[in-house]
Amino acid sequence: MVRMRITFLGGTDEIGASALLVETAGARILVDCGIRLGGRSPLPELDRAAGGLDAIVLTHGHLDHIGALPVLHRSLPHVPVYATPPTIALARVMLGDAAKIMAQEQEREEELPLYSAQTVASLLERMVPASPGVPERIGSDVSVTLFLSGHILGAAAAGIESPEGRILVSGDISWTDQLTVAGMGVPQFRPDTLVLESTYGDRLHADRGRQEEQLAAEISARIAQGGKVLIPAFAVGRAQEVLLILRRAMRLGRIPRFTTWVDGLVRPVCGLYTSFAAFLRPKLRELIEKVNDPFFGDVEEIKPVASPAQRKEILAGPPCAIIASSGMLSGGASVFYARALAGDPAALIAVTGYQDEESPGRQLLAAAEGQTASLTLQGTAFEVKCAVRKYQLSAHADASELVGLAARLKPADTVLVHGGGESRASLARQLSTEPVGRIHLPLAGQTLELEGRRRGQSVRTAPIGAGRPLCDNAGELADKAITLRGHRAAWQVAHLLRLWGEAGLAQEDAQKLLLDSGRFAADPRRPFSLKPLPAAGAPAAAPGTPAADPIDEVLARIGADAGLCRHSADRAQRALTLRFNFPARAHERFAADLDAILGPLGWTWTIHPAPNLEALLARAKKAVEDRGGAALKASAHMDRTEVVVRVAADLDPADAAAAREAFARDTAFALAIEVQPSYCLPKTARRADGRLEINAAFNAIDQAFAGAPHTPYKKSLAHGPDGGAIELAFISPAVAERYRDVLDALGHDTGWPIRAAAAPNQHRIKEIAATLAQEYGIAVRKNPSYFGAQRLLRLPVNDIVAPDKAAELTRRFEDATGFTLDLVKE
Ligand SMILES: [Zn+2]
Ligand SMILES: [Zn+2]
Repeated sequence: MVRMRITFLGGTDEIGASALLVETAGARILVDCGIRLGGRSPLPELDRAAGGLDAIVLTHGHLDHIGALPVLHRSLPHVPVYATPPTIALARVMLGDAAKIMAQEQEREEELPLYSAQTVASLLERMVPASPGVPERIGSDVSVTLFLSGHILGAAAAGIESPEGRILVSGDISWTDQLTVAGMGVPQFRPDTLVLESTYGDRLHADRGRQEEQLAAEISARIAQGGKVLIPAFAVGRAQEVLLILRRAMRLGRIPRFTTWVDGLVRPVCGLYTSFAAFLRPKLRELIEKVNDPFFGDVEEIKPVASPAQRKEILAGPPCAIIASSGMLSGGASVFYARALAGDPAALIAVTGYQDEESPGRQLLAAAEGQTASLTLQGTAFEVKCAVRKYQLSAHADASELVGLAARLKPADTVLVHGGGESRASLARQLSTEPVGRIHLPLAGQTLELEGRRRGQSVRTAPIGAGRPLCDNAGELADKAITLRGHRAAWQVAHLLRLWGEAGLAQEDAQKLLLDSGRFAADPRRPFSLKPLPAAGAPAAAPGTPAADPIDEVLARIGADAGLCRHSADRAQRALTLRFNFPARAHERFAADLDAILGPLGWTWTIHPAPNLEALLARAKKAVEDRGGAALKASAHMDRTEVVVRVAADLDPADAAAAREAFARDTAFALAIEVQPSYCLPKTARRADGRLEINAAFNAIDQAFAGAPHTPYKKSLAHGPDGGAIELAFISPAVAERYRDVLDALGHDTGWPIRAAAAPNQHRIKEIAATLAQEYGIAVRKNPSYFGAQRLLRLPVNDIVAPDKAAELTRRFEDATGFTLDLVKE
């Protein structure tokens, strides 16, 4: 039997350049085609798709999933691209903007653009809108179905079905509801192979409600003190969330009203969100019906920035908040404001999203923690004097949610992608005890051959409509749906249409028709999702004496000190969800009570299995401190339900035992106490070929360079015929050469061939020149010229620099970069 193959072009152990190729006997399909932002080589390995494609499918409109698409389109101009309608609209805005910026950069820096506006226009003509839940046929025997996945507007997982088996590519997913889009539900698709994102495979999210409250409160406090607040935010998703958080807090009077400016790409994207209301949460949809524009409609203090000229006025004006893209301060309007506000002690920069390892945003966070002195924006260094805060408003599922989804889908193979650093390995460990089949952690360029079908495929029900119009028979469909899955299950509209055998009806029309019939209710959690209702007069399915509100009774029983952090009740479904700081212990304490109170009323209850991470870490430190230990740092390891506390000096064994016992009693987590520095090589980490397990090898490299004047800024695994090698990127090969002895010793200790990357880091070299020039008070005329082959940087300056000063500066530059600095008066 022909097997399925998946080849990974990028986006495996990184956030960036997501692209994978699925090959069956009948079709070649590429899922996503993203770029790396800020990396050395921006493109995925597109030549792997050179053999031609039958279709491209997009999961969502972020550039790490669509940014390389125009490049591919140039060589494969006739391949259709399937995506949800909002994703197509976002692609138009995002790729159009990228092409514009590249054209500007070409004029300035003579860098060739990856693609032009014409290519983007031609690409958009090949895009085919695909409705969620509706299969699109590709070739003779393969189909692709998109399932909404939370994350951002229109984001979807892609289910590919072929005679060889089924693959579900998750794309980026969010399990919890955000203010804009509903969280993902378990899709009605049982994959043989699950390709799962692992952005936060090593993390649990902090309580989102609390993060939102803090964000609003701290911004408002800073403004009350007379400061300005910049919130750099991704134009798609995060910026809309932040706007809605502030709008709601102002409307409810939780914070005073203040002017909030919205700048950059954020504004057109807000318009797109409003125009695809069917894809938004019902609450936001209602708001759109009421006020038309939920972002700028009803709070007059929230205003778009009309033109770049207005920015200076805003900075010179009264205290205010500014929401601007890009989110990592790597370009766009946010950089303009950050340049002015970074050095202002009255200002606050509120970081709300993921920051790439090499992004200015990450540098800002490091500067705020005192790890670096300054922030470099577009070649100029700025001293950071403003306050900097970080908030977790993630649009990605956390580890417990990823594990939960995979465990529900029960695939025969689980492939982890889209995860940097430790996150994939950590997620793999947590999945190892779940029914998720074989677990794969591929790298870019690798191909997986899959066994294909697992046993026990679900059998599809034959359509029941027999050609009759649905509009007259919605009741029959509701009855059938209840017979099949009970009255509590929500159905996707597309699934209901399949059950009836109705092919000619658009989803939005069908949804309206079914709701109008009175036999279906909208699922308050998700768009295009309905619940069948029993016929009027039919006996109510749940026994229920209308009694006093059971929730009050439950809350009274649980009490204030039990660590309940949130509860939500779905009254229509009679389902109560509780979130506790320490759910395992709460479950033991309250399960019997909950059954006793809720059971007779026909309610069900769940205690969310994820603990409150902040409470968990705080309790661990407290357990150590109560026994006289000096706790330095706590970290949670969800996979082995353990918290590790680093201490300055070892505890007395009896005290340590008592701390462990107290902690386990409170939380059901184990406590490990380790003296700092605690790193040592695990003895079991050798592989069969004698090489150290790759993460242990990376750790050994970190240890070897700890405290050295130069450290490799990037460690990667380079593939090759004889098992590959570790490649370390230093600022330049000349600097790497100074560490030849260390590299040789590391090669010996880890068993890995270790080599230095061949390309110097041009960006950092320029940054260092700019920082040093500023430190020496030298005014720079324009951007430096870089001559890689000569290992030379030429810096045009305004005035002649005193010879002793110039000598010291160039020596320090040479030390730092291995390059010569040429100061030229122009
Ligand atoms: Zn994304
Ligand atoms: Zn992504």
